[in-house]
Amino acid sequence: MKVSEKTQAISPAFIAQVRQKIAAQTVEHFIEGRFQPGVRGELFESLDPSNNQVLARAYRGHAEDVDKAARAAKKAFERWKLNARARKKYLLKMAEVLEKHGDELAVMECLDAGQPLRIVRAQVARAAENFSFYAEWAERAMDGQSFPVDGEWLNYSVRVPVGVCGIITPWNAPMMLSTWRIAPALAFGNTVVLKPAEWSPLTAWKLAEIAQEADLPPGVFNVVQGFGEEAGDAVVRHPDIPLIAFTGETTTGALITRNSAEHLKRLSLELGGKSPALIFEDADLERALDATIFQIYSFNGERCTANSRALVQESIFEAFVERVAERAARVRVGHPLEPETEVGPLIHPEHLKRVLGYVEIGKQESQHIFGGEQVGTEGNYVRPGLFVAENHHRIAQEEIFGPILTVIPFKDEADALQKANDSRYGLASYVWTRDVARAHRLALYLEAGMTWINSHNVRHLPTPFGGVKMSGTHREGGAHSLEFYTELKHIALPLTEHPIPKFGR
Ligand code: NAD
Repeated sequence: MKVSEKTQAISPAFIAQVRQKIAAQTVEHFIEGRFQPGVRGELFESLDPSNNQVLARAYRGHAEDVDKAARAAKKAFERWKLNARARKKYLLKMAEVLEKHGDELAVMECLDAGQPLRIVRAQVARAAENFSFYAEWAERAMDGQSFPVDGEWLNYSVRVPVGVCGIITPWNAPMMLSTWRIAPALAFGNTVVLKPAEWSPLTAWKLAEIAQEADLPPGVFNVVQGFGEEAGDAVVRHPDIPLIAFTGETTTGALITRNSAEHLKRLSLELGGKSPALIFEDADLERALDATIFQIYSFNGERCTANSRALVQESIFEAFVERVAERAARVRVGHPLEPETEVGPLIHPEHLKRVLGYVEIGKQESQHIFGGEQVGTEGNYVRPGLFVAENHHRIAQEEIFGPILTVIPFKDEADALQKANDSRYGLASYVWTRDVARAHRLALYLEAGMTWINSHNVRHLPTPFGGVKMSGTHREGGAHSLEFYTELKHIALPLTEHPIPKFGR
């Protein structure tokens, strides 16, 4: 995802038009190619994080709605699975239509999720890329291996789609994270029921419109809006949904694992993180500084791969903390639709309370250096914050999911590695050093699914994405998604009349 330094503004007239559309309509479910109200007719409200006023009303889905969507998806699967060339064409069309509606998607995501325009624009581009990238996999992906046995057998394996995929997504990057799962699921011949987060329902709604415009066959892509414990849980427990791709909190991931156990579902869990950046005295400190600041304060700090623990070598510790504080003070906090904004409002007053709660815990237990307070009285704005802490402090161990950086000193490589791995999480890690051997050594021993050396998180779609420990299971991306969204089947064919035991003769 490329976040540009400058981003083009969206005209006030266009923003007003999108707002009007959101206000005038009720966000419906999208089932079997049609927008439709919930069976029970109940609604919920989504708030605008910049002022906590009601932004949209959406149908609150329940098991009945999920059942309708699952049946539609199951029916559509029978045809969808058969034609890879058609799937490629549809996915390319999805990418094209998505790009065409890029500004509308961007306005919706800014208003609904509070993410700054510069971030959201990069996410729109990524969402389109998710479809165009996996479109190319649709036709070439299903090949397996052959295992000839001495001219007597031809055994071989093929990949077949799994069926209906349940995709459950969080609110921090709704469009990017949902398309990241929807695109490979569809490319490899599955159909989808998406349950977006209740705090950010809008871009999933728009995505359904995009699917309609791209002429996706009815039932291939379905959206059920609603709450996690209701619609989400119904997806997890539905017998006709054999696969769940979940992104969200670790505790929810554990609950979903338990609740899906009855049907032995295939699960891919992308969960929380407390990712370390290890900054050594020999690093390019300017670049390390830029990256560390970007990795904690971008996405309003609501970023699973944020380097929320900066481990800094003692010899450069004080100077580094001072520089971060200077920069944090200059980070521009503002409305998500302002092109200059670097940090927007947190998603919801409840989440604001949680983040401010951690700031209080940090003030009692650790050393408060800067920020972390609410900005203004309207909306959920928080000033980027900075603490110096010890690795066992709560703000160094628990995921805050806000713009709060915890900096921790270390002595040497062994100390850095020990502290980095002293965490229940293991999503990403970052190493800053000019010592090449050390960088590779650490990358090998860091307990994390991903390590970036002298770089912030720059994703490349073919590479494996995912975490270890309490940060998740499985990898997705490129061929790893192929593995997850398909079943590997063994087929055996004798080439001669092989002997068959003659029981009962
Ligand atoms: P969450 O777990 O509260 O909710 C995520 C989704 O799960 C929502 O759609 C919610 O409605 C649904 N849900 C909640 N309870 C459910 C249940 N019992 N059954 C089925 N579905 C249920 O997470 P969140 O607060 O929306 O997102 C923030 C979390 O997501 C953070 O921990 C963050 O680190 C994580 N995250 C991880 C990644 C990653 O790739 N590892 C990416 C983004 C966010």
